[in-house]
Amino acid sequence: MIYQRSSALFAAAKEVIPGGVNSPVRAFNAVGGTPIFVKEAKGTYLYDEDGNRLIDYIASWGPMILGHAHEPVVQAVIEKAKKGTSFGMPTEIETHIATLAVSMVPNIDKIRFVNSGTEACMSAVRLARGFTGRDKIIKFSGCYHGHSDSFLIQAGSGAVTFGSPNSPGVTQGTAKDTLLATYNDIHSVAELFKANKGEIAAVIIEPIAGNMGCVPPIAGFMEALRTLCTDNETLLIFDEVMTGFRLGKGGAQEALNIKADIVTFGKVIGGGLPVGAFAARNEIMDYLAPIGPVYQAGTLSGNPLAMSAGLAMLTELNNRPEVFSNLAKKTAYLHEGFEKVLSNSGLDYVINRYGSMISIHFTDTPVVDFASAAKGNNERFKKFFHGMLAEGVYLPPSAFESYFLNDALTFEDLDATIQALERVAKTL
Ligand SMILES: *Cc1c(COP(=O)(O)O)cnc(C)c1O
Repeated sequence: MIYQRSSALFAAAKEVIPGGVNSPVRAFNAVGGTPIFVKEAKGTYLYDEDGNRLIDYIASWGPMILGHAHEPVVQAVIEKAKKGTSFGMPTEIETHIATLAVSMVPNIDKIRFVNSGTEACMSAVRLARGFTGRDKIIKFSGCYHGHSDSFLIQAGSGAVTFGSPNSPGVTQGTAKDTLLATYNDIHSVAELFKANKGEIAAVIIEPIAGNMGCVPPIAGFMEALRTLCTDNETLLIFDEVMTGFRLGKGGAQEALNIKADIVTFGKVIGGGLPVGAFAARNEIMDYLAPIGPVYQAGTLSGNPLAMSAGLAMLTELNNRPEVFSNLAKKTAYLHEGFEKVLSNSGLDYVINRYGSMISIHFTDTPVVDFASAAKGNNERFKKFFHGMLAEGVYLPPSAFESYFLNDALTFEDLDATIQALERVAKTL
């Protein structure tokens, strides 16, 4: 494949945008080479600036669950745009999408819309702190909750139980309020609770992790986490920015049968426009301004264009819930095909899958947390990524990301992907 125009566009972008991108993973740092510049997309196919066609397995990192340029979503946005794109005043459509979201998701009475998943998680933590009157939160290594300061924290060294900043610009003062636990290790959480009795406002978790590849919770882990939170009067925040409206109408809460206290959304809920949201029962949501003391706001929050895309998306998912089971079937089919190829290849590999999320790690031990995900052979991953790209298959350009399948993928596309892996595996 030729990436001439993408290379030129990347060079031009680097002159005026740091690293040439507006979000780091797009720069291909983890895999090397030149990022692909997209010209347009339809259904499951991306068309790049050099005229290459790629089968898309990232779906804009999740939102395009029905495929790109999905007609009802596009039409809703066009019609709305003609009537004005922002007012800074309430509009009826905000109530429509809120009503629909509350009807689809269990255990929530009210929802507040924001502009990104980052904003949703940041606001959820502030709300949890305000509601409980406590400062500390627990997060899990390898889980991503957006780029706000409280989440850019890595495990502290030695005996310290609190984290340290993992980006310059995050203060020690912020870091000391974020405690790091190990995913799928309930003892690591129990120890933090014991050492910080009565101080933990919230535990925030990706109920099915998607930011270290796909890492589902092991049996009993989420139940035990729920119990620990309840016993310590700590709020359990499910970050469903990836899983919300992807695993099913009710997201991970429904799939795992676990009740969260606050749920955050992003990605699918905006139908491809910049939308995030957080939701909870009345008692918690009524703590928010303007009726409660916890401040939170946004000039473009509930923006009519964004709400129209989100409403069109949720309406379709609500009316056609078979989309979720079809996606899970397609993902299982892909898994089976990958498994067949890789089991004959002599390579070490782990395939994790949950619903329409799947990933491959080139390692010989189960991938259940960040440490085991990090053991993967990254040189092999790079070759794998570029080999698949040359075959016209666009996978996440990092071993620490999940694939997101979309409804427009056909079994022919899946077969083509499996056949591509057959050729690529021989080169690894
Ligand atoms: C993508 C993501 C976020 C951040 O959302 P943005 O819209 O990129 O700010 C937060 N949490 C999870 C689990 C995510 O996957």
